[in-house]
Amino acid sequence: GVCVPDLPGKNAIEVRGVRKVFGAGEAQIAALDSVSVSIRENEFFTLLGPSGCGKTTLLRLIAGFDFPSEGEILLYGDDIAPLPPFKRPVNTVFQSYALFPHMTVAENIGFGLEMLGKPKAEIGARVAAMLKLVKMEQLAKRRTSQISGGQQQRVALARALAPQPKVLLLDEPLSALDYKLRKEMQIELKRLQNETGITFIFVTHDQEEALAMSDRIAVMSSGKILQVGSPWDIYDRPAVRFVADFIGETNFLDAEVVSVSGDRATVKLSSGSAIKATFPAGTMPAGKVTIVVRPEHAEVMPAGARAPVLGGIIENIVYLGTDTHFHVKLADGPPFIVRQQNSKSGPCGFDKGENVGIEISSDVAQILKD
Ligand code: ATP
Repeated sequence: GVCVPDLPGKNAIEVRGVRKVFGAGEAQIAALDSVSVSIRENEFFTLLGPSGCGKTTLLRLIAGFDFPSEGEILLYGDDIAPLPPFKRPVNTVFQSYALFPHMTVAENIGFGLEMLGKPKAEIGARVAAMLKLVKMEQLAKRRTSQISGGQQQRVALARALAPQPKVLLLDEPLSALDYKLRKEMQIELKRLQNETGITFIFVTHDQEEALAMSDRIAVMSSGKILQVGSPWDIYDRPAVRFVADFIGETNFLDAEVVSVSGDRATVKLSSGSAIKATFPAGTMPAGKVTIVVRPEHAEVMPAGARAPVLGGIIENIVYLGTDTHFHVKLADGPPFIVRQQNSKSGPCGFDKGENVGIEISSDVAQILKD
C-alpha cells in the first residue's frame, strides 16, 4: 500500500492454519477455517467483518479462553498452546467492560496486579500511572457503578493495560458508547496505543472505525480472512467483491480484458470505452472481469462535452453539504454513483433527468479476483 508500507516488522502474533469447529456431525460449524495472519509488534491491527464471521472466536483463541481445532498460534515465535490465559502476556478489554461495581476505580485498575501478587508499592505506582494515562485521576475513589459509560470504558482500558501486556485484545470496546463519545474514544485509543507501544488487536464490524484507527485491517467473512492490508489497500485496492462491498459505497462494472502490461490492464467497458485498471498482486486478469470504481473517483460532466467513459441519466441528486451524490442510470442499465466535492461557487449545475457523461480518473479502477 501507499500509506503503510509493508515493512517486515517483528511479529507479535502469528496465526498459522487455524481452524475452529463448534458442534458435531450435522450441526458442526467452522467458526474459523484455515486462518493465517501475522500481527506485528506495536501494530494497531483490526479484525473487521459482519456479525458471525469469527472475529470474537479468533480473539478468544489468542487470549487462551478456547483452543484451535487445528493449527497453531505463536507469540513472539513460541507456540502459546500450553499457556493458560493468565500466563499469557495478553489482556482483553470486553465490550461489556466487566468491571466490579462495588470496587472503586483505583481498585478495579489494580485488581489484575493484586491477582499477580505484585508488591503494594508497585501496585500503587502502576495504578497512579494508569489513572494518569486514561485521565481519570479525579475519579480514583469513585465506585465504578457511579461513573458514566465513557468513564467505565477508560477504567476497563486502564485495568487491562496495568499489567503491561505485550498484546491487548479489544472486542468491540466502543460499541456501547454513543456516536460522539465513540469518536472521542477512537482518538483516545490511538493515543493509548502510541504512548504504550503495546500491540492492539481490535475487533469491530464498523468499517469507518476500522479505516480511521488501524495500521492494518484483516477483512473476515464466514470464518475466513479475505484480505489483509492498510486502510488504503482495503478501501482503494479491494481484492474481492465482498471486501469492496463491505467497505464503503462502490460501483461494479462488467468489463473485458484487452491487454495486460506490468501491473495495469486495459479493459473495455460495455459502453465501448477502454480504461486502465489495476489488479490484485499475484493474479493475471483475462476475459470477462468485474471492476470496482469508488464514487469519488468518477466525475459527472455535461453530455457531449468530450467523449466520456460512461453515459447516463441523472436519476437523483443528493446534496450532503461537503459533497453531492449523483445517482446516474447508465445507458446500458446499471445504476452508478458519483460523489463530487462541492465547490465554493454554488450548486452543482446539473439537474435530475439530465443526460450526462461520466469520467473515471485514470488508474483508479480495480479488477476483482473473483
Ligand atoms: P459478532 O460480531 O456477532 O460477535 P463474530 O464475528 O465475533 O460475531 P463469532 O462470535 O466468532 O463471530 O462466531 C463465529 C461463528 O461461530 C458464529 O456462527 C457463531 O454462532 C459460532 N460460535 C461461536 N461460539 C460458539 C460456541 N461456543 N458454540 C457454538 N457456536 C459458536
